[in-house]
Amino acid sequence: MVEIQILDKTDDFMRFIVRGVNAPFVNALRRIMLTEVPSMAIDEIVILENSSILNDEVLAHRMGFIPLKTDLDSYSLPEECKCESEFGCNLCRANLTLEVEADDKTITVYSGDMKPENPSIVPVSDKIPIAKLAPEQRMKFEAYARLGKGKKHAKWQPVSMSTYMYLPDITVDVKNCDACGKCVKICPEECLVVSDGAVKVQNEFECTLCMDCVDACPKDPSAVDVSWDKSAFIFKIESTGALPVERIVIEAIKILDSKVKEFSDQMKKGK
Ligand SMILES: [Zn+2]
Repeated sequence: MVEIQILDKTDDFMRFIVRGVNAPFVNALRRIMLTEVPSMAIDEIVILENSSILNDEVLAHRMGFIPLKTDLDSYSLPEECKCESEFGCNLCRANLTLEVEADDKTITVYSGDMKPENPSIVPVSDKIPIAKLAPEQRMKFEAYARLGKGKKHAKWQPVSMSTYMYLPDITVDVKNCDACGKCVKICPEECLVVSDGAVKVQNEFECTLCMDCVDACPKDPSAVDVSWDKSAFIFKIESTGALPVERIVIEAIKILDSKVKEFSDQMKKGK
């Protein structure tokens, strides 16, 4: 049975334990989050004026990587949109415009200077620098954001981190241990502590399985043993801010589900 235990959660970050699964399953989820959960990014830009020192191509590339808040329920992927138009429609494209001029001193153009057509499709932060403008330099463009997938371009990845590791299991053999504290000192994650004259395990979930504590123990065999549970994983996900982190997980599961269903439908057809 699959069991999930959430350890930390904010809007953009989640760390949880999942038990009762295997590595291929969690790896499929990880890869789907990276490459197949859609998010919004600037895909096309019409530069009307640019007298900054950034050339147009660099500016366009930079704009693509500004994470945008994504509304998966109101927009569709351009290839799945009913409009079937290359240019797009209101359901598959969101417009943002920018017009900035430096008067008599140097200024920085920020992501927050863009004016969105749809107030819900905006940069995740107003403070992402785009370029510096010297006096009298101008920048004016229209940008078109579309939904896309990370497998086509990294700018569409909704996650900046999606990793998992086996759930660590640290044990100290009290009969063999004389509490010298060498293992405690070497652990960078402070997973061990000496208390009441014995080494005890704390913050077990922080362990990175580096095995330094096992090697640091002067006893032979080592009094510290680190192993891991092959059916339990610690998953860490950080969203770019495009989507709430739990929505990314749920969308990834939906995608995995539809792939399995398609596979089974094709198998039935081939019978
Ligand atoms: Zn459309």
